[in-house]
Amino acid sequence: QEETVVQPRNDEKRILSHVAVLEGAPALSEYWSLFDTNESLFNEARTTQAATIVFSLTQNNQIESMARQIHTLRRQRGSVLKIVVRENNTSLRATDERLLLGCGANMVIPWNAPLSRCLTLIESIQGQQFNRHVPEDISTLLSMTQPLKLRGYQKWDTFCDAVSNMMNNTLLPADGKGVMVALRPVPGIRIEQALTLCRPNRTGDIMTIGDNRLVLFLSFCRINDLDTALNHIFPLPTGDIFSNRMIWFEDNLISAEIVQMKMLEPEQWGKPLLVASDSKPVLNATHDGHVWRRVPEPLRLLSDAEERAS
Ligand code: C2E
Ligand code: C2E
Ligand code: C2E
Repeated sequence: QEETVVQPRNDEKRILSHVAVLEGAPALSEYWSLFDTNESLFNEARTTQAATIVFSLTQNNQIESMARQIHTLRRQRGSVLKIVVRENNTSLRATDERLLLGCGANMVIPWNAPLSRCLTLIESIQGQQFNRHVPEDISTLLSMTQPLKLRGYQKWDTFCDAVSNMMNNTLLPADGKGVMVALRPVPGIRIEQALTLCRPNRTGDIMTIGDNRLVLFLSFCRINDLDTALNHIFPLPTGDIFSNRMIWFEDNLISAEIVQMKMLEPEQWGKPLLVASDSKPVLNATHDGHVWRRVPEPLRLLSDAEERAS
């Protein structure tokens, strides 16, 4: 238990920063101290009271440990400390940003803000007091970033249960839990065939088939990003596969649709085609993070025997 002695806040002007934040520039004034690692920055920050602490995030695998450091600082050092995360060349998911802010960061500075703008933003929080509540136990916050451990095809009832659990989870942001889309295939494509073209990558993205529809739930996807997400998931433009789509993105509308879906008789539930695991994918393409690329296949024009004969 910490003693609640009011200490003088004479470190108010100090800025403790990861060296990467200044992109090679030296300390900007006597108030700046630069650290080679977030770990050494954190250790020094534990002795501060009202200083500004600037972490640098360069890899997604740093998110959890940084969240823990921020949580510790905010819980132990109080509300006058100014904690900033600078994204260096990596782009955070919205859920990650929410986690860091929930752990007690005042601000996350996006990777595409240039250094000058970054410095102005650091200036802008001087004198600020952190007012949001930070839960004592960080595991509550961590569990919110990936509540659904499922990915890909689910049976109709499993899908409905998973989505209703998400909707009923009060720790998740209201009307920000994800988007649900129902797609009906163009004439000539069976729903089971359309399913083979649906390839979610991200944990938390699930789908099911039934009643001649493919229903997808994309965790934490925002409505304005729906097409980006669908482009990651389908190797063909969705307009070529589906003639009709319906979209739900508010909690009560998603829940109401799930209630409807739960009434579908099991005979109407779709069954995925049995695909042997070593069979060729329907479309030989992989997603490289930007676009789907077809994978070239070597082809020999003459058989070995004919080649030798010539
Ligand atoms: P982006 O790829 O342009 O995606 C923008 C937003 O579309 C994402 O914001 C998310 O809301 C939605 N989205 C895109 N693809 C999917 C998907 O497959 N499933 C779901 N459920 N939603 C999707 P978000 O999450 O804030 O991510 C922001 C940016 O961070 C992404 O922009 C991407 O550049 C990067 N990113 C996030 N996660 C990953 C990842 O696992 N791998 C890679 N390579 N980049 C990622
Ligand atoms: P995951 O969340 O299951 O995502 C698996 C793969 O889906 C990613 O592999 C990436 O190829 C694709 N993906 C998911 N979301 C997006 C997106 O928004 N945009 C793009 N372009 N691709 C997306 P990757 O990148 O190798 O990541 C592997 C795992 O590492 C991810 O599994 C996740 O657990 C973690 N990860 C990667 N980036 C982020 C991130 O920005 N935030 C968090 N929290 N985790 C991340
Ligand atoms: P896109 O540029 O619209 O091309 C669509 C499809 O047309 C390609 O699908 C491929 O089947 C065919 N295609 C286009 N240009 C050529 C070409 O010069 N030679 C051959 N043999 N076929 C061509 P694919 O391969 O699945 O690529 C999908 C998308 O990925 C392309 O759309 C493009 O945006 C991007 N991409 C693929 N390869 C390259 C590349 O070498 N350079 C660039 N900058 N982008 C590429």
